[in-house]
Amino acid sequence: MSTTITFLGGADTVTGSKYLLEHNHQRLLVDCGLFQGYKQLRLRNWNPLPVAPNQIQAVILTHAHLDHSGYIPLLVKEGFERRIHATPGTQDLCKVLLPDSGHIQEEDAAFANRHGFSKHAPALPLYTRQDALESLKFFHAERVGHWFEPIPGWKARFQSAGHILGAASLLLEVGGRRILFSGDLGRSDDPLMNPPEPPPQADTVLIESTYGNRQHPQGKLYAEVGPLLQKLAKRGGVAVVPVFAVGRAQAMLHTIAQLKAAGELPRSLPIFLDSPMAIHTTALFEKHMGEHRLNAVEVHAMDRVATMLETPDQSKSLALRHGPMVILAASGMATGGRVLHHLAQYAGDHRNMIILTGFQAPGTRGARLAAGEPSIRIHGQDVAVRAEVAQIESASAHADGNQLLSWLHKMPSAPDQVYVVHGEREASDALRERIEHEIKWRAVVPEHGSVWPV
Ligand SMILES: [Zn+2]
Repeated sequence: MSTTITFLGGADTVTGSKYLLEHNHQRLLVDCGLFQGYKQLRLRNWNPLPVAPNQIQAVILTHAHLDHSGYIPLLVKEGFERRIHATPGTQDLCKVLLPDSGHIQEEDAAFANRHGFSKHAPALPLYTRQDALESLKFFHAERVGHWFEPIPGWKARFQSAGHILGAASLLLEVGGRRILFSGDLGRSDDPLMNPPEPPPQADTVLIESTYGNRQHPQGKLYAEVGPLLQKLAKRGGVAVVPVFAVGRAQAMLHTIAQLKAAGELPRSLPIFLDSPMAIHTTALFEKHMGEHRLNAVEVHAMDRVATMLETPDQSKSLALRHGPMVILAASGMATGGRVLHHLAQYAGDHRNMIILTGFQAPGTRGARLAAGEPSIRIHGQDVAVRAEVAQIESASAHADGNQLLSWLHKMPSAPDQVYVVHGEREASDALRERIEHEIKWRAVVPEHGSVWPV
């Protein structure tokens, strides 16, 4: 009985990760992500899956980022009612991220209706906050390093992937084959997370390639952030820092706490964390001690370095303050969230600074800022960008090309096949070429929607 894999997302793009495995009329979905970025990608979220959700026997999530988990509420709304297996860290993060995602979907639909954007009348959210809350009851926590049986006769085991809290690679055994999903792999020198565990032997490997064509500079976050914020403090400006609520926000807080402790930044420089999601995620570092690099003193310092702004009123009150100050707010690619208000307010002044802290997917406002565009559109208005735009290279939570290749090469012997996934076309192709030439393993970049043997 053969086993197949269908690439329903995360192929040809960094978003929408969904890998459907079929064996003996049983189906398992590994990751269940939203498409993000360009409109033609986002529209894919509205296409029905090629298999009815109630025909899927189990879901396994590698980690909580929305491009891996954000389709879950829709899958449940459309009839999936089995278990969603995830590590305890992923489960805790999904409790924060998925309801927020539903809330954003509702706000976007309401906004489109108010302004008559949508071709559909009325515009509908992909799913609501309530749908997301409903979906949480199907989550089932699995400990890292322990085998579990998602479907009778199928075995699965998580191992740590670094990257973000709870992130895991997944080894799956079905029909006599071992399939390894790298998930998103963290970098070996991440300030918060431990390096990914080396891969066990497998017959088939899916490896991510977000930075398959890039090498991260050696610099540490500390060395990049310090000089930028010193400059900002001197000229009395405001730094708006779009952050990913999970991971980058905490890395920035930890780094700023270290800089202040070392006397490299004035202790009086006000720092604000304006994201309820990031605030909740920061608290999870204390709950999950031992799953990241920080000790209790560092977690405490990270928690104390910023003023936490929970409510919209607290967020709005920032507009009454003068610089210098640093505002960290989501979302990390400036696609939505409170950071938009701060960008609209501060982007026009040359004393200010916009600090981008991670991968900016093509088509997002973050990518436009990174490309140096003189104005960006926010809430239907053109906003001139006169602030200094800086991109922090060492803030990525992803392994670079060399680190991906060296992780893969730690596998005891060659697998039959490597599928290069979760990257823009050039990044995936670059990694495929390196795998074929430098370690001489068979590798392909599967197309979106294609079906392959495992
Ligand atoms: Zn991720």
